[in-house]
Amino acid sequence: MALDILIENGIVVDGTGAPAKQANIGIAQGKIAEVGNISGTAKRTIDAGGLVVAPGFIDPHTHYDAQICWDGAITPSSWHGVTSVVMGNCGVGIAPCRPEAREIAMRDLVNVEAIPFEVLDAGITWDWRPSRSTWTPRRAGSRR
Ligand SMILES: [Zn+2]
Repeated sequence: MALDILIENGIVVDGTGAPAKQANIGIAQGKIAEVGNISGTAKRTIDAGGLVVAPGFIDPHTHYDAQICWDGAITPSSWHGVTSVVMGNCGVGIAPCRPEAREIAMRDLVNVEAIPFEVLDAGITWDWRPSRSTWTPRRAGSRR
């Protein structure tokens, strides 16, 4: 298939929850035609080396830290085309959090996001664990 656009060397975040991966994306007639190791040429080639390529919108500032505990699709953002979010990058987060500060963190989300305290108390799993350089959540049932 003749490609109109070839996006090379990007880090693809496809919005399915799959891990990010380096891949090329071929676009033909306004639609994604191929993803992966694409050989060939296109009318236009874009070098996305070092950049994220996502088929949707990336919301760089969210307060989903609590909601993702009970809503893995972080609706309604995903319903509106957001495929990737960044969270935990401002002062309104819940990790890392010492057990004795959990109520304070939840009260902050009550004030900022108007999420009822009872919902936060019942929904936040507090099962964060440190990785090499950051804190990552474990989903319910996850063995990570
Ligand atoms: Zn914020």
